[in-house]
Amino acid sequence: MRLAVIGAGMAGILSAIKLDEAGLTDFTVYEKADRLGGTWRENTYPGLACDVPSHLYSYSFALTPEWSHRFSPGPEIYGYFEKVAKDHDVVRYMRFGDEVTECTYDDGRWRLRTASGHTDVVDVVIAATGVLHHPRYPDITGMDTFAGAMFHSSRWDHSVSIEGARVGIIGTGSTAVQIVSAITTDVAHLTLFQRTAQWVMPQENPAYTDEEQASFRSHPEHLATLHTNLAEAFGIFANAVVDSHSPEIKMIEDACRANLEDNVRDPELREALRPTYRAACKRLIISPNFYDAIQLPNAELVTERIERIEPGGVRTADGRLHELDVLVLATGFKADAFMRPMRVAGRSGLTLEQAWAPRPEAYLSISIPDFPNFFMLNGPNGPVGNFSLIEVAELQFDYILQLIDQIRSGACREVSATRDATDALEAERTEAAPNTVWVTGCRSWYLDDRGIPAVWPWSFERFRTVMRQPELASFELR
Ligand SMILES: Cc1cc2nc3c(=O)[nH]c(=O)nc-3n(C[C@H](O)[C@H](O)[C@H](O)COP(=O)(O)OP(=O)(O)OC[C@H]3O[C@@H](n4cnc5c(N)ncnc54)[C@H](O)[C@@H]3O)c2cc1C
Repeated sequence: MRLAVIGAGMAGILSAIKLDEAGLTDFTVYEKADRLGGTWRENTYPGLACDVPSHLYSYSFALTPEWSHRFSPGPEIYGYFEKVAKDHDVVRYMRFGDEVTECTYDDGRWRLRTASGHTDVVDVVIAATGVLHHPRYPDITGMDTFAGAMFHSSRWDHSVSIEGARVGIIGTGSTAVQIVSAITTDVAHLTLFQRTAQWVMPQENPAYTDEEQASFRSHPEHLATLHTNLAEAFGIFANAVVDSHSPEIKMIEDACRANLEDNVRDPELREALRPTYRAACKRLIISPNFYDAIQLPNAELVTERIERIEPGGVRTADGRLHELDVLVLATGFKADAFMRPMRVAGRSGLTLEQAWAPRPEAYLSISIPDFPNFFMLNGPNGPVGNFSLIEVAELQFDYILQLIDQIRSGACREVSATRDATDALEAERTEAAPNTVWVTGCRSWYLDDRGIPAVWPWSFERFRTVMRQPELASFELR
């Protein structure tokens, strides 16, 4: 059996390790960039860190005693993925600098074509192409007229010095908060352009002491316990967001409100920073020091609507020009693109664009009807929230491997979710959506074009249970 994995980020590396372990060694991991790492290769902005604890944001089979902080910085996370891939000797499967542009199902096999013209024919495709991958740029008049340096947060231009510069940041998500917290002390002036205020959950980020790290090294079993305990603790969060009346969500709201009340001194700034929707409706921001940073004398929060961008800076609707040398677009990602713009055509030439009109949909986020032997990791409608996507990918991979085993054992040659199972799950998912905190009055990237959260609306425990073993009746096995 020959396989192709598309993408060498966290999920692609996981796939390579697990396929190799399963003895399925005839595969290539296609990666369009020149290195592995995905998110953690692309994002290099100052302040980048994990917002789930590092001992949880680790592969369950590659726990490490070396994390420097409870929430370790981005370069360390990148280094972790690089090391795990090397330690498991899977880099040899990776083909870098070649983007898969087409996957076509033909005569029982997938025909792949890459940007370089290379072709491959495989039995199974695993798309590990990421979710927060394609930058979303704002549509603001005059963007191309800015005379200073302007870049998206995930394309940070390190040739531009921010020291002593007047820096503007558009956006108020986790990324913007991390950047503001990291750079305000270095820049001459920082302007944060806020369209929507965000709740901020206070969270200390202590460094692990040498003694703690030494103890992890000598007692690796403690790492496994810590991983399990953290998964359970964050499971509480995952369960809180899917029940907007839960006591846990109230606890989160109280903590965020107290953070705002206790730590923002100026009443006017406090009101400007106060969201008008419930905590965790948008992805919850976790920060030990954002409020400190935004209260520094050289920091300014601008809530006035942006009118246009001019050579000298950003002009807001009140007519004021905010003069800037550097403008950072912390405006997020096209979270509904998934593996697109890759062209994927399944049975009878059905394209992904057709299958996904009007919106992306997949059975348990891993399989699409009429796209046999084509599986996704972190595909549409999966769990998102403040927990580890590594665990999500691990559970999904183990599930996919069981489906691949159906082919390997000769039970069938083709596996894809049935239309009925997909429709039934989608109907159930839509019905559960109103219970979640994501529909309590905010706009976020979780919501689809109908305003329904495009994510898993049930508990994480349910996800773990469902992922344990495929229900074969939900699949068409031919
Ligand atoms: C700033 C930021 C902070 C985050 N923090 C957290 C966090 O704290 N906790 C958490 O759980 N998650 C976090 N995430 C989510 C993070 O994206 C996932 O945890 C994880 O890294 C996703 O891994 P992935 O392999 O699925 O996708 P990615 O890391 O996006 O990797 C996808 C890879 O596929 C490649 N690719 C895509 N299309 C093609 C193609 N057609 N051909 C070839 N190669 C292709 C890309 O180049 C990329 O290398 C964060 C995301 C961002 C952007």
